Order: sequence, then structure tokens, then C-alpha cells
Amino acid sequence: MGEGSAGGSSGAGGTTSFEELELHPTLKKGIQEMGYRTPTPIQQHAIPHALTGRDLIGTAQTGTGKTAAFLLPILERLMNGPRGHTRALILTPTRELAVQAETFMRTLGRHTGLRGAAVYGGVGMGDQERALRGGAEVIVATPGRLLDHMSRGYVRFDRVEVAVLDEADRMLDMGFLPDVRKIMETLPTDRQTMLFSATMPPEIVRLAQVFLREPRTVQVGPQAAAAVGVSHLALPVPGHRKSALLRELLRDEVMTSVLVFTRTKHRADRLHRELERNGVSAGVIHGDRSQSQRTRALEGFRMGRIRVLVATDLASRGIDVEGVSHVVNYDIPSEPDVYIHRVGRTARAERRGDAYSLVSPEESDDFHRIEQRLGLSVARSQLPGFDYSAPPPPRDLGVAARGHRAPGGGPRRAYQRGPGGPRRGPPRSGGRGPPPGRRRR
Ligand code: AMP
Repeated sequence: MGEGSAGGSSGAGGTTSFEELELHPTLKKGIQEMGYRTPTPIQQHAIPHALTGRDLIGTAQTGTGKTAAFLLPILERLMNGPRGHTRALILTPTRELAVQAETFMRTLGRHTGLRGAAVYGGVGMGDQERALRGGAEVIVATPGRLLDHMSRGYVRFDRVEVAVLDEADRMLDMGFLPDVRKIMETLPTDRQTMLFSATMPPEIVRLAQVFLREPRTVQVGPQAAAAVGVSHLALPVPGHRKSALLRELLRDEVMTSVLVFTRTKHRADRLHRELERNGVSAGVIHGDRSQSQRTRALEGFRMGRIRVLVATDLASRGIDVEGVSHVVNYDIPSEPDVYIHRVGRTARAERRGDAYSLVSPEESDDFHRIEQRLGLSVARSQLPGFDYSAPPPPRDLGVAARGHRAPGGGPRRAYQRGPGGPRRGPPRSGGRGPPPGRRRR
């Protein structure tokens, strides 16, 4: 854990209890009702700095409580001062994340009388327009939709006091920078700006210089580390056997709530169909799904109606679900940071979780790079009894894995189940037993 200053002297330090934080009693009530007992490390270190009104760069692993780390100081500031104007703007890369931050804002700020609104694409403009015209004090928005509203002339940001760029590294990934610039240029220059990012690549540091003034940096945990509490396991498997291996793994009841990542929307849809065809309750979430389809899938997953949620990386940002037991990397990302973000979906807020990676021979170099970045040597495991050498069924030819061309001419055979015998899941580092049923709220 570390703190530093990118241009300023050191100031407020960390604190270990919510009582010590100089927050209004109504906010403390909100915190209590959320069930938060002690501030997470990023909250301990970021909140006191943010309360001083200074700019801040927060580097924290995904799932460490950074949303509340910026929301609480914002709400504290907004408790005083005028109502009926937009005074805080939070930009997020995805609509799910916008909804999540706005929901947290309403829950934490329940007793403050402050109004928040989420502004994102894929739904009607009407309610969002009313919130913007009505001067909701906190706006959480994705850049594209916000710019749509701004082009219509009724958005007033001249009284914005605080701006937050959430998941800033991701925003750059997605090519949002021009939009973010356009929006930031409309804000008063004497605002407070906070930038949060799970990783701190050089582009972010440059961005920080453009948008921030003498920011304090607050870094929690090693920059490249994946979320604490995750057990990583690699399962080498030919590309065309991934789907069958996943279904075998899912026979283990320990996998109560599973988030599966694929590289493309097409692969996500296909895997989703295969799982459903095989009687696994599954949902799918990616950029081509409508907002209502995404919300339905996410809600089903959250409530435990859906056991397996298949997602692409774009969609993963908004997934904040208590008790994700396993993250499965069905496809290995070529960027190590993407891996860190994915596995951050399990072990949220100091819970534990497992991350399984199905690594085809073509992906082993990418996986090796991930290990290097994490500074970890991830254990390899084979599922006992699983037939790794079954040939691909004809329909799999050519699409089984990235760059993988399955050998043609094999006999027409469906996926084979290996010899029977007692089932054993892959070895678990840490020696935890299965959780007692679903771990959901
Ligand atoms: P975030 O990193 O903001 O997406 O938060 C991850 C999860 O941690 C969310 O479910 C939060 O509700 C939860 N959380 C945030 N702060 C705390 C806290 N102080 N104590 C317990 N859980 C928290």
C-alpha cells in the first residue's frame, strides 16, 4: 500500500474506521445501512484526501470499494451548498457501471435529499433529459449518451464542483478519450477532479496531467496484482474441448455462481446456447444485447436464478455481484490487465473466489505474459476423467479457438465423456471447502 503525491506535499493520512472520517451523520447512517463496517484500504486512504477538495488519482484493484471512496466525499461536499444544480459529474465507461454508481449514490445518500441520475445509452432519453433539466445534483454518465444530451442544449454544467473519471484506463481502451475531453472542457476549471483506475499505464499518467491539478496519488496494493483472495488455476485444453470441459467443471456444485468470459460476442452467444442446450441455467451479456436483455440477465444472475453468466469484456465492467464463486476465462485475453479486471469480479470486497483459465495451446504465450505481469506462477491442472483428446465435431472446425485449425477428417463423434469414477474438481489452492450453498444476499 502506498501513498504519494504527483505534484503536492503529503497531507491527510489513512484512517481505519468510519467514525474517524469527517462525514456527516446522515452519511454515516447510509454507510451503516449498506452494511459497511470498516472502510476498505482505498477508502481509508482516498476519502481523507478527497475531503480536502484536492485532486486525486486512485489506483485500486477492481472490487476494492472505490465507488464509495469517491461517492462519500462527493456527498459530504454536496450536503452543504445549493440544491437544484448539477454539482458532481461521474463518467464511467459502461452503462452497467453508471447504473451501479448511481444506485450506490442513492443508497449511501438516502438521507441526504440529494438527487442522482444515471445517463447512458440504449434506453429512452426522456427521463434522463428531465433529470438533467431538473438539475439532479449528481449525474453519473457514459460519455456518448451524455454528449447526445449536451448537443441538445439543455445540459448545464457550469456549477459542477467535482468530476470523477471512473475506470479511466478502460475509458482509454475503448477510445473514449475524445468524448471525455469534450465533456471535461465544458466543466469549470476550478473543480475538484478524481481519477480512478485499476492500472496506471503511461496514457493514464498523461491524461492525469491534462485533467488534474497537482493530484495526490493513492495506491492500494501492488499495481498489477489481481484482487486479493483469488485462487488462480490454469486448465490446459485443446480449443475445441473448451465447451465440454466447462460443462464438466460445472458438474461440481461448488461452482454456484459463475462468470464466464469469452473473447467475442459470437463466442459468448454460442457458448450460452450450448450451455442452455445442456441444461445449465445460463445468461449472456454483451454489447449487442439490448439494455433490457442485459438488465434481465444481470438481475437473474444476481438473484441466483441464473448460475452461469457468459460475458464479453466490455460488459464485465458493470458486473458487481455479491458472491461470484468462480470466474472462468473461457478465452485468454491478450492483455494482462484484462485478466486482472476479469478476476476482480470474484473475491469482491475481500471475499474469496476462484479464477479458472481454459488455456488452449495457441493461448499459452498470452497466459504466460499474464503470469509474468501478476508475478505469479499459476498451477496447471487436468480434470480427472475428462477426455482431452476427443476430436472436434465437424461443426467446430475452424472456429474452435483463436487461430486454431482443428485437424479435419476425424470420425463423426459428439463430445465424449471420459471414464467414470468419483468426480473430483480441480485442486484448489488454499484448501477451502465448498461454500454452504449460495453465497448471495
Ligand atoms: P467497488 O470496488 O466500488 O465496485 O465495490 C465492490 C463491492 O464492495 C461492492 O459490492 C460494495 O458494495 C462493497 N463495499 C464497498 N465498500 C465497502 C466496505 N467499506 N465494506 C464492505 N463492503 C464494501
